[in-house]
Amino acid sequence: MQGRPIQVRSSGDPDAALRVLVVGSIHGNETAGHAVIRRLRALGPPHGMRIWTLRTVNPDGIAAGRRENAHGVDLNRNFPHRWRPGYHSGARPLSEPESRAVRRLVRQVRPDVTLWYHQPLRQVDLSAGADPALVRAYARRVGLPAQRIGFLPGIATRWQNTYFPGTSAFVVELAPGRLSHAAAERHARAVLAVARTARTTAAAAPPIHQWRIPFGAERKGDMRRYAQRHYGIDDFRLTNPRVIVLHLSVTDTAQAVYNTFAPNRPDPELHELPGVCSHYVIAKNGQIFQLVSLRLMCRHTVGLNYTAVGIEHVGRSEAGVFARPRQLRASLRLVAWLRDRYGVRVRNVIGHNESLGSPYHRERVKRLQHQTHADFPRRYASRYRRLLGSATPAAGRARAAGRNNSSIAAPFNACKEPHDSHGEIDNRLPEGRLKRVRVRLVGR
Ligand SMILES: [Zn+2]
Ligand SMILES: [Zn+2]
Repeated sequence: MQGRPIQVRSSGDPDAALRVLVVGSIHGNETAGHAVIRRLRALGPPHGMRIWTLRTVNPDGIAAGRRENAHGVDLNRNFPHRWRPGYHSGARPLSEPESRAVRRLVRQVRPDVTLWYHQPLRQVDLSAGADPALVRAYARRVGLPAQRIGFLPGIATRWQNTYFPGTSAFVVELAPGRLSHAAAERHARAVLAVARTARTTAAAAPPIHQWRIPFGAERKGDMRRYAQRHYGIDDFRLTNPRVIVLHLSVTDTAQAVYNTFAPNRPDPELHELPGVCSHYVIAKNGQIFQLVSLRLMCRHTVGLNYTAVGIEHVGRSEAGVFARPRQLRASLRLVAWLRDRYGVRVRNVIGHNESLGSPYHRERVKRLQHQTHADFPRRYASRYRRLLGSATPAAGRARAAGRNNSSIAAPFNACKEPHDSHGEIDNRLPEGRLKRVRVRLVGR
């Protein structure tokens, strides 16, 4: 904020599946953890993992010797999960550049284990959502009790544990004052030893064939103007995907999908540019084709194109997709990988037909505010989300997915994510109206 950089160092095996993040401080007057960071860096690259060490995420607070950042915001109340005003928590979730930098880093690294050092409570927090076995093992090694601190709004660990299910982020509360050299050594070794026992959760990317449709300067310009008209966003880039939308192509081949998306022509339904598209198409035999870069917005779902990745499933009916194991498996793998990569919650994997109920739905053009399509209605999308929950490998993740599943019962009350929830939720459209359009591959 005052121009002091937040520096992160990484070391270890760059190809290791296991990824660990250690943060020395977030509160500027709790600096004992810095000694652990120094020790970890001095120990040299660990085997079998890659480790990112961050001395502090609050350099301005450190310089001023105070808890908050230069805006007077407590950064560990500024994260999006269950954020509340009035805790020095900032104007809104992620209002601070420091917390946004953390989000960027976590999204990029996707750590399996994250440790956050604080003071002065002398305990290791059984942080909600973290693997308790891991927390207890760490506590044992450093000779601190493993206890629950209890709920606090907008904290980093809960945000991580919620948005990156199956991963473990927890708080270590050191004693007041400085950490002795021996204690720093003990903590650093505990980090490495305990992290080694963690499960890696990264979903492997499925094989993806690149089959890009033309998306040159002209189409990008059209996309930017579309985003301007419909979302008030002056950009053609997809910068922050929060939603994954499932579509049914109502074609028999992937080629037919490609042929529809490739030309940059106004669509026959809404007569707008750019031409419609989706990021991926999954053929009946399970081959996945990527048609458009994930860095670009695609027109596939009115109201959500600014934040949604679109996936087409080749076929004439949703039941058909569920009846083709290879296609279904490929789809679930692709979505698991995308969710992991962007921290998309199960409830935000939706069918096109559910678009109006998404808390992310926003549309400036009045006549389109209730527009959706009939593909992947709730019946099928819920079934898909259930499979997504059970298809996850790690036990920790299955547990987390179960937690998400419980929210599927009432997915449209789920607009509690305070950060980018927009507008009202209209889940009460008459059936007939939803069924109205059975036009496919057009008019997104
Ligand atoms: Zn603290
Ligand atoms: Zn669709």
